[in-house]
Amino acid sequence: MPRPIFEPDHDALRESFGRFLDAEIVPNYDEWERDGHVPREVLKRVGELGFYGMAVPEEYGGAGTEDFLFNSVLNEEACRRGLAAFSLCFTMQNDVALPYFVELGTEEQRERWLPGIVSGDLLLGIAMTEPQTGSDLAAITTSAKRDGEHFIVNGSKTFITNGVNADLIITAVRTGTTGTYADISLLAVENDTPGFTRGRNLEKLGQHAQDTAELFFTDARVPVANLLGGEGEGFKLMGRNLAQERMSIAVGAIASARGALERTVEYTLDRKAFGRPVGTFQNSRFVLAGCRTEVEVAQAFVDRCLLALNAGTLTPDEAAMAKYWCSEALGRVVDSCLQLHGGYGYMTEYPIARDYADARILRIYGGTTEIMKEIIGRAMGLGDVKR
Ligand SMILES: Cc1cc2nc3c(=O)[nH]c(=O)nc-3n(C[C@H](O)[C@H](O)[C@H](O)COP(=O)(O)OP(=O)(O)OC[C@H]3O[C@@H](n4cnc5c(N)ncnc54)[C@H](O)[C@@H]3O)c2cc1C
Repeated sequence: MPRPIFEPDHDALRESFGRFLDAEIVPNYDEWERDGHVPREVLKRVGELGFYGMAVPEEYGGAGTEDFLFNSVLNEEACRRGLAAFSLCFTMQNDVALPYFVELGTEEQRERWLPGIVSGDLLLGIAMTEPQTGSDLAAITTSAKRDGEHFIVNGSKTFITNGVNADLIITAVRTGTTGTYADISLLAVENDTPGFTRGRNLEKLGQHAQDTAELFFTDARVPVANLLGGEGEGFKLMGRNLAQERMSIAVGAIASARGALERTVEYTLDRKAFGRPVGTFQNSRFVLAGCRTEVEVAQAFVDRCLLALNAGTLTPDEAAMAKYWCSEALGRVVDSCLQLHGGYGYMTEYPIARDYADARILRIYGGTTEIMKEIIGRAMGLGDVKR
């Protein structure tokens, strides 16, 4: 269906980013999937071409646009081509981490970091999850104790996207002692911070070209000047930005589903059984019609949410619905599409096998489906509080 939310400028960006993907990413992607990361110089090239930090004000080198549709266009083009792990590298930069620097940064912080974020010299990550807690963010234990002009940080984080490549990582820490969410603050941790080390690049079921790592803090000295937002405001600030992160996941999910579907239609029209293309069996037609309907219906909701996000009216529960529905829909679509590939669908050299493996994490990161349902249900007045 036509998507009237886009203007000619979005289409032009889509086309130029698509050209870049076809020329410089697609031909090398298998190698990066084997290596477990996208090379640093490639991620820098994304910045050189102007695809980072479109939301950064012009005086710091960005495009100065708050229109999230530009971000979404890049995400869609990469995911539709089956490059979900690469997409996560730059959506972490543009969609997830950047708003913390643009919206919360002091003038000094903005001058220090924003130009490097736009150029790709500074790659970003965000570290909330710890080995003992993910869904229950208020229970994090990584501590940050004030010592003059520094915080002394102790603890560890895990599953951190861009964890190997990132130069600047927003880290959720506990600066107070009440044991509640009101203790949580956000520190921007730089690469060369004494006492900060990284663990191995974690081996995953899918999204192999994405570097995902553990982070360790042992008496790490982080300047107070690296505090993002106010002390004790971290939980609230993460909550505010998670809606955009969830829309980013929803956008990528539907684009990935669309790409998998397109590839499967092509495959099933080519592959023959019983003297005819397998795509022409009534069952295949019904399955693929179902997948197409999943994609188009979800897309309509996502597009509406994107307009609301741009207008500043998207609620956390609406973003949760988009994330929940689209990530689950992607799971259904890639499973059906793999089945229509028969045994070849299980071979990693076939793109659908990668689509299938890459898709699984979308129902978990950025908040699990169960947590999305919690958010939606609570917004309906169905919380735990006794009446
Ligand atoms: C590849 C990858 C990349 C990631 N990237 C990042 C990143 O960049 N930064 C970051 O901070 N984190 C990241 N994460 C972490 C991710 O966000 C968490 O894994 C996720 O939020 C779930 O937390 P958990 O793993 O601790 O699961 P748990 O919280 O232990 O949950 C286990 C199960 O219990 C369920 N559950 C938990 N609480 C409830 C409840 N109240 N009601 C019903 N069910 C519940 C969950 O839905 C889940 O099914 C990443 C994870 C992966 C695997």
